[in-house]
Formats: sequence, C-alpha cells, structure tokens
Amino acid sequence: MTDCLFCKIISGEIPSVKVYEDEYCYAFNDIAPAAPSHFLVIPKQHIPSAAAVTPENSMIVAKCFEAIAKITKEKGIESFRIVSNIGEQAQQSVFHLHFHVLSGRDMTWPPG
Ligand code: C5P
Repeated sequence: MTDCLFCKIISGEIPSVKVYEDEYCYAFNDIAPAAPSHFLVIPKQHIPSAAAVTPENSMIVAKCFEAIAKITKEKGIESFRIVSNIGEQAQQSVFHLHFHVLSGRDMTWPPG
C-alpha cells in the first residue's frame, strides 16, 4: 500500500532500526520507546489491523508470533508484553497491523 507508513518502512523508503526480518515479517525499534526495550513486529503484507485477520492471512500472524519468540529468545528477554491496538479509541495510530513488544521495566495491569 503506497501511502502506508509501515509499508514504507518495510521497503526502506522510511528508515528504521531493524531488529529482525524474514519472508513474512519485519521488526524494528519503536521510534518513541515506551519501555527500555520496545520493538514492533509487522507483517510484510499490508493488513490494516488485527480486526482484518482472516483464514486467508492468519498464517502471517502466526509467523509474527514465531518471530517474537525467536527475537526475545535471542535477546534473552524472558518477560515481556505484546500489545496490538485496534482502532482509534484503542490508540491505534498506524493502520498496518503491528505488535508492540515491550520489556525491561515493571508493567502495570490493567493497561491505561
Ligand atoms: O499502536 P500504534 O498504532 O499507536 O503504534 C504505532 C507505533 O509506531 C508508535 O509506538 C510509534 O512510536 C511507532 N512509529 C515508529 N516509527 C515511525 C512512526 C511510528 O516506530 N516512523
């Protein structure tokens, strides 16, 4: 999708600090970290949000979670939080599915 910020990050048109990449997923450090370690895992295929996951594209979501398990293991991160905001009320600001992976500080519950 040409006007999608995260599609531009995947293509390299917008710079990012890459954490991981495979055939299905791209991961990069969040530009405004909300924890000592905060990276985003995104599918290379443009999916607007978790609300747009279907039987046809759900395998890619599983690949993103495989990537999260691989990255956190490699980084020695044993406790972390995965967040995906869906819609404006939930604070989604970029409409390309992404999983925030946050760690390195005490978390609170419920989230704000
Ligand atoms: O859940 P939400 O849609 O708000 O998350 C988007 C995230 O993308 C934000 O945490 C923001 O800091 C991050 N971002 C980024 N690099 C950009 C633009 C946004 O890491 N160039």
